[in-house]
Amino acid sequence: MNKNIKPVWFSLAIILTTTIGIVFSISASFTTYNLEHKRILAEFRQLAIDRAAMLNQENKAINLEVLEGIRGLFRSSKKVTRAEFKTFVTGTITRHSTIQALEWIPRITVSKRDQYELEARTDGLTNFQIREKRNGQMLRANNREEYFPVYFVEPLAGNTKALGFDLASNKTRLDALIKSRDSGKPVATSRITLVQETAKQAGFLVFLPVYHGEPKTISERREHLVGFVLGVFRVGNMIERSIGDAEIKIHLYDVSDPIKPQLLYPSERQDIPETSGIFHTHQLEVAGRVWELQLFPTPTYLKEHHNTIRSWLILMIELIFTFLIMLRFKTAAERHAIIEAKVKERTEELKDSEARSAAIVNTAVNGIITITKDGIIKTFNPAAEKIFNYQADEVIGKNIKILMPDPFYSEHDGYIANFHHTGKRKIIGIGREVKGRRKDATIFPMWLAVNFAKVGGEKIFVGCIVDITERKKAEALMLTAKEEAEQANIAKSEFLNVISHELRTPLTVVLGNLPFIIALGNLKLIKGEKTLPSIRKLTAILNEDPKDPVRVSCLSVMKQLSSLGTKMHRQGKHLKMLIDDLLDLSKIESGKMDLDKQSVSVNSIVAGVVADMNVKAEEKGIALIHSGEGGEVIADEIRLRQVLINLIGNAIKFTDKGQVEVSVRRIHEHTEFRVKDSGCGIPADQVGIVFDKFTQTDSSATRKAGGTGLGLAITKRLIELHGGQISVESELGKGSSFIFIIPDV
Ligand code: ADP
Repeated sequence: MNKNIKPVWFSLAIILTTTIGIVFSISASFTTYNLEHKRILAEFRQLAIDRAAMLNQENKAINLEVLEGIRGLFRSSKKVTRAEFKTFVTGTITRHSTIQALEWIPRITVSKRDQYELEARTDGLTNFQIREKRNGQMLRANNREEYFPVYFVEPLAGNTKALGFDLASNKTRLDALIKSRDSGKPVATSRITLVQETAKQAGFLVFLPVYHGEPKTISERREHLVGFVLGVFRVGNMIERSIGDAEIKIHLYDVSDPIKPQLLYPSERQDIPETSGIFHTHQLEVAGRVWELQLFPTPTYLKEHHNTIRSWLILMIELIFTFLIMLRFKTAAERHAIIEAKVKERTEELKDSEARSAAIVNTAVNGIITITKDGIIKTFNPAAEKIFNYQADEVIGKNIKILMPDPFYSEHDGYIANFHHTGKRKIIGIGREVKGRRKDATIFPMWLAVNFAKVGGEKIFVGCIVDITERKKAEALMLTAKEEAEQANIAKSEFLNVISHELRTPLTVVLGNLPFIIALGNLKLIKGEKTLPSIRKLTAILNEDPKDPVRVSCLSVMKQLSSLGTKMHRQGKHLKMLIDDLLDLSKIESGKMDLDKQSVSVNSIVAGVVADMNVKAEEKGIALIHSGEGGEVIADEIRLRQVLINLIGNAIKFTDKGQVEVSVRRIHEHTEFRVKDSGCGIPADQVGIVFDKFTQTDSSATRKAGGTGLGLAITKRLIELHGGQISVESELGKGSSFIFIIPDV
């Protein structure tokens, strides 16, 4: 079940990351969009503030420049004529398209009404009279205490309808009049429909009072009021002149009475939706009234200012980023799957390997025990069970000391502790012989090789044990046998030594005297000074009468004696030769052959031996040649001569015709001796054994020549005692070459 958990987690992680990524991307994009929106809002707000300031400026211009200017005119003149008024305002009106009309509204008491009307008519306004609107008609105003008629109006064209209209007869205007009179300040009316206006745009009036002198209080102002300068303004023109902007939709409200706001300037741009959420309102004070300017951006404005590409770009980048993360997770998931498959494969392999290892350990002939660094037994294989007679579960968890008697355990423990602390190997990886203790407490010899390994971060020591009880027994037996053999060999050598001496001494005596017996028997052969007087005497007696039967039989006996003596002498010599050889061999084998090594001249030794042996060669009618040049070698001269005599002797012995050549040459700090003959040669299958003791090749030549079969064995050993080597090359029927080398030093 657990196997499937990880891929599920990975899938969940991919889904989660993707979801979070997409949500994050969209929210980041929204955030960007919102920030963008806020930025546009801020920009638009600033634009609105600027536009409102411009509108304010326009208003101030009207009030201060225009109305204040006209007021100045009325203040500075006792009487301003209609013509003067016209002259004064015409330029201003031309400059300000906002101005519908500029008027003079005098305060006319009822007593002066006729005078004013007359004067106006005199000015050319023939039908002038102070009027009011009653029942929808402009009629002559009823009598009342005072009138505020439109007396001067410029431009006259288009505004004649207003002439004579008593502003006090209209509530809106009267309210403004009173307010202005009492405050001394310019006061604007609420929205009015301009009588003169054809474009049907809204308008408003601004009254500016003109007093006699400088009245301070309301009553003084009421008392000293002369009239009002009046401006009639077109809102539409004012807006367009000051803040008309193609990119902005504008509404202007008079909100002096918040319950009943009046629309002063309705935007004609119905195409502009007001749901964009972006708008700005700004309030401004206009001659005692409160106006609210509402500004909305047009689609063009939004298009120009809104950087939607950035939001989309961010969204795209975020989505790509999310996609990459998702891809990363996907790759990780795939890699995880591959790794998991590999782990599975490796686990299988490990299981196989473990099974194999277990099989090896369980079937191993050697005991295999693993222990912790504290000597606690962890595993105990069947072979170990057999060796120690313990079952694995009897020893696992126990200390290794139960399997080893002291002092071996302490030593072993010390080795492991030492390795643990210093890393120096005394037993680890080496192996040594120790004693083991079986379950029945018997002690036995064993070979212990310890190695260490790290398993799961823990150090374990692996001991490989071989029960060497049987081997030790066999070794002991062999040792005894060897000792016995050595003893026997020594005894043999001593025996040989003794016997040889014991045999040699009398044999020498016998051989020394036999020539006399032979000489005695063979009277004719007696020659030289050694002939005893008694023999000489006997010879004389026997030669006195050669036909005497006694003397004849006596001579016959003596001849037989001589013949027997000769045979005895020959056999004796052979015996002596055998004894000499045996003596040498026993000396060599018992290590008692001491060499008297000195620097000797190879040429002189070879020449000497060749000269001595030449007699024998001549006897057989073969040539003995000495060739080559040798230098000095460190050798025992007697033994070197013995070697040469032996080899040259054999060569002569086994050669019937032709020659024997003894050649010498120096090779790389060695001297090479070669004894080459043209004799019978050695059968190929026997070339390899000629240096063995008592070996004689199976040939008629050998049988004829006789010998002991010890010569070459001794020769080989003598050469080896000199640090040299000998070899043989031979071809049956063609001859042999014995080659040996002696090192110079
Ligand atoms: P032996 O006293 O019998 O000569 P060696 O040990 O000297 O004993 O020689 C062993 C045998 O090797 C000889 O009996 C002979 O068969 C063979 N052998 C030695 N030298 C020669 C040679 N030069 N030519 C042929 N055979 C030889």
